[in-house]
Amino acid sequence: MPGTLAQRAIMRGAGSVVAPPAPAPSTVLESKMPTGVYDRGDPVARFWSKVDQSGAPDSCWPWVGGRTTAGYGSVQWDGGVQYAHRIAWRLTAGPIPASIFVCHRCDNPPCCNPAHLFLGTHADNMVDKVAKGRVARGEASGPRRHPERMAHGATHWRVKLTEADVLAIRERAASCETRRSLATAFGVHESCINKIIRREAWAHVAPSAADDLNTPSLIL
Ligand SMILES: [Zn+2]
Repeated sequence: MPGTLAQRAIMRGAGSVVAPPAPAPSTVLESKMPTGVYDRGDPVARFWSKVDQSGAPDSCWPWVGGRTTAGYGSVQWDGGVQYAHRIAWRLTAGPIPASIFVCHRCDNPPCCNPAHLFLGTHADNMVDKVAKGRVARGEASGPRRHPERMAHGATHWRVKLTEADVLAIRERAASCETRRSLATAFGVHESCINKIIRREAWAHVAPSAADDLNTPSLIL
């Protein structure tokens, strides 16, 4: 079969909700997924060097770099921090339309195998999350599972958030988690959460609003 490993994987994986567009032949596609020695100055090569492709072409390819608290890969890209699975999609299938999520059919947040990714809407995503019990409520909620993160006063609050925290905060806010719940989970004041969501703070993390509003979550 012609094409690169990722192109063939996409062809096999096509068919559910939104089939990925046929990858256009380009130097990007030709130059990705290096094995062994690669040019560290090439961001595409560096990206794929952090994707574990040691499994079969149709198995999960986990991101081996940094991750958000929710388990999604995070990567420095275009001067900001982005989700690794979204970059994997862009490099193999092309641009992501506005207001569209890149979702995992494998339900494995760090996975960057393009064949396991597909485009979906926010509505698709929320329906699926509720159906799969991924929206935390009651005993499963953050404060119940991580009481140690509850703020008991200014001295207990975390002084510094990480970039991964910021991605996770925007991701959870996009999934309708309340400001108060996020403030509790991350040990910061609600006004801090508001600034992060409105991009008045940490604007360099996922510089495009589409890159975190459309985030993550998993379907199928
Ligand atoms: Zn996967």
